[in-house]
Amino acid sequence: LLQLFLPLGTLGIVYRQVKYTLADMDMVFRLLETEQEVKDAANAPELQVREGAIRFEAVDFAYQPERPILHSVSFSVPAGKIVAVVGHSGAGKSTLSRLLYRFYDVTGGCILIDGQDIAQVTQASLRKAIGIVPQDTVLFNDTIRYNLLYGNPQASQAELEKAADMAHIRRFIDSLPDGWETVVGERGLKLSGGEKQRVAIARAILKQPPILIFDEATSSLDSATEQAIQQTLHEVAGHHTTLMIAHRLSTVVDADLILVMDGGKVVEQGTHNELLALRGQYQHMWELQARDEEAEMP
Ligand code: ATP
Repeated sequence: LLQLFLPLGTLGIVYRQVKYTLADMDMVFRLLETEQEVKDAANAPELQVREGAIRFEAVDFAYQPERPILHSVSFSVPAGKIVAVVGHSGAGKSTLSRLLYRFYDVTGGCILIDGQDIAQVTQASLRKAIGIVPQDTVLFNDTIRYNLLYGNPQASQAELEKAADMAHIRRFIDSLPDGWETVVGERGLKLSGGEKQRVAIARAILKQPPILIFDEATSSLDSATEQAIQQTLHEVAGHHTTLMIAHRLSTVVDADLILVMDGGKVVEQGTHNELLALRGQYQHMWELQARDEEAEMP
């Protein structure tokens, strides 16, 4: 029996070592996978970003051909504005952000940035123009400095500190015994969902992209963290064209335009006040949320 256990024990160590590197590998595989699915057109030019205006033009999309997800979705995000997307779970909100980053190609219609079809330009130039803060950020098993610099390896210490300040993560970093050299990720210090998201925001700030995609975490953050992230986001978004995928309506009140999605279609659009006046789905969602919040109050 002992003989059986010993190799199993060794296997456990090997397994753990393999697993530890998976956070990095997973990211690499995901990138490789998407490279295979999406190909640059022959002699594709680079995207020329002038002001960073986005246009979805009658976009259809299906992950699998037999199950269409988006149906003729059209909307614009004017340069420098914030457009928020709300809707029930599974409505297709995050799919919009994946298509804009070109993890997948649309099956109908097109997505334009400053009038250029993103399927016709190089992926490298497209992704250089976009900073993405995903729902769940993958951290490298490396120092917090490395994890932030990933946004812009050339950034100076002063730029790094400024980004950390703007993302409200500086005080947290300074409080760590090893500060910027603290190893985070699976093998190091585990960061909370809110801290990870702020690292992703700092990365995006360092990258200084003309376009920002923010996919709000679905997992509930405590309200102080949520507020800090919201504040950061609005400060950062002010300088970029922003597509904000929102899971909480409180996030979107100040957006320049709100899209309400249902069943893969945009069913309403307008500002917060316009949508309330419409007395449609948005207003209904707003009332439900207010009722939930009231019920939660002590
Ligand atoms: P949530 O608010 O829960 O995040 P969402 O509105 O962002 O939802 P999406 O993530 O865009 O919804 O998903 C839309 C639909 O596409 C869902 O029905 C989902 O099951 C499906 N879907 C998402 N990702 C994939 C995938 N990789 N392969 C197949 N189907 C997928």
